[in-house]
Amino acid sequence: MPAPPPDVSDWRTQAACADLPQRTVFATRRQHALPALRACAACPVRARCLEVVAPQDNWFDGVSGGRLWRNGREVRVLAAQAE
Ligand code: SF4
Repeated sequence: MPAPPPDVSDWRTQAACADLPQRTVFATRRQHALPALRACAACPVRARCLEVVAPQDNWFDGVSGGRLWRNGREVRVLAAQAE
């Protein structure tokens, strides 16, 4: 049986990080998060990601909306590291 087509109305199907390993997207260390942060730079659903994940409203760990979060607080990453 063929797989159903992707649901294009689901913003996650457009995520630039969709093919990255979860350990990168949900990284807590800067170095591990860099591939996801680079993907965010060209992600077409960046604003939606930040809105839905709402990292500041919970204890989120990982990358959302182009930023790295740990326990719902932003972890600063130098721009040169994320490029
Ligand atoms: S903004 Fe970043 S973390 Fe969010 S979906 Fe896009 S690439 Fe993934």
